[in-house]
Amino acid sequence: MSLYDKTAHELHELLTAKKISAAELTADVLSHVDEVEDKIGAYVTITRDKATADAKAVDEKIARGEKIAPLEGIPCAIKDNICTKGIRTTCASKILENFVPPYDATAYQKLSASILIGKANMDEFAMGSSTENSAYHTTHNPHDLERVPGGSSGGSTAAVAGGEAVFALGSDTGGSIRQPASFCGVVGFKPTYGRVSRYGLVAFASSLDQIGPITRDVTDCALVLNAICGHDDMDSTSTAAQVPDFTKSLVADVKGLKIGLPKEYFVKGIDAEIETAVRNVAKKFEQLGAEIIELSLPHTEYAIATYYLIAPAEAATNLERYDGVSYGARVDGADVVEMMTNTRTEKFGEEVKRRIMIGNYALSAGYYDAYYLKALKVRTLIQKDFTDAFGKVDLILTPTTPNTAFKIGEMTSDPLKMYLQDICTVPVNLAGLPGISIPCGVTSQNLPIGFQLIGKPLDEATILKAAFTCEQSL
Ligand code: GLN
Repeated sequence: MSLYDKTAHELHELLTAKKISAAELTADVLSHVDEVEDKIGAYVTITRDKATADAKAVDEKIARGEKIAPLEGIPCAIKDNICTKGIRTTCASKILENFVPPYDATAYQKLSASILIGKANMDEFAMGSSTENSAYHTTHNPHDLERVPGGSSGGSTAAVAGGEAVFALGSDTGGSIRQPASFCGVVGFKPTYGRVSRYGLVAFASSLDQIGPITRDVTDCALVLNAICGHDDMDSTSTAAQVPDFTKSLVADVKGLKIGLPKEYFVKGIDAEIETAVRNVAKKFEQLGAEIIELSLPHTEYAIATYYLIAPAEAATNLERYDGVSYGARVDGADVVEMMTNTRTEKFGEEVKRRIMIGNYALSAGYYDAYYLKALKVRTLIQKDFTDAFGKVDLILTPTTPNTAFKIGEMTSDPLKMYLQDICTVPVNLAGLPGISIPCGVTSQNLPIGFQLIGKPLDEATILKAAFTCEQSL
């Protein structure tokens, strides 16, 4: 029996019924990694010895008759911008090539009973939509190895889709969990801003970043959310709001639910097969008793421009710390200025440097009001669009991406085209809302399609309920 392609909840049952051991399960996943990792390239670092030792400890616990938590002993992948004590955390950047954190990120620490298979590849500092911006290698989409898995959490997502981990953590600043989830045919959830602690998540754009689960089904998604959500004294932006038991949302029932279809998300530029698939999801919801309501989010067209001012501005500030002195790599120079210049020129990749330049430009005296401050004002208008819409509906349904997985190399020469990948996902981050991507079929070329459900602040539960209902009936 192959175990590497099962869900966490199936494996938990097998473990507690003593039909399999954690050691067997971990060995099965690791041997599958040996088989496919050459082709997929999901990982930057594989933690084989730790995984084997940790699995043994879980088996000993089971043998003692102790109860195990739902994700205990389950193999996972963690995006390489989430700090893991004693395990290299590179952000897929040369500047952090040898960075070994002295502490765990809170989200990972809450999952420490799971089995870490490795640190997953990503776009450098989470900047990108294809994982081609990794300083180490490009990750390949398990559904079609010539295509990208999406990004920036492409390694985490390819690991889950390709059988190299049962579930994964990613981070989502403008779509980096949902977009790759839709490209790889898995479930990806960005929680409400503040739901999951950012302590130990290497900062990209602090007002947008959020850690979330990448899983094979909605049930696993609820289990990971249960484990990682909640207030953390180490992150003052984490919310004190109570965390419900998300498994209570795993009921197939959308009767009376009001679901909005925003017209701005069904426009020219959205692949026709994706539009059809998402409209079919709306029909399905209607058949199941939900009410579909057409609505408008009028400031959607400004979301990409707004995001690509705010995110680079915050990134430029956050990345100032990589100066060859306090963190990471150093390239020597004749004096301190030359040393810093050499370090940053050599060790940051092209896209990271582009963002630093855009960000500093938008923040500089004389341009601050025209760009950065203006972007903040538009952000408020985008938030207000959602607040108005949620006066009428419980959820908003959209495509996750304008197109399916593209060929490796197809977009690298055109950063603006790459930025448009996030057109359906960035508004959600700008507004701080929760959003999920769920698979809803494949194209004529057999490439996965995903749809997005956006919820009210802190209402992950309703998203999960609708997602579960849809998953059961599709
Ligand atoms: N693709 C977007 C970017 O390049 C989003 C990245 C993310 O969510 N981390 O900024």
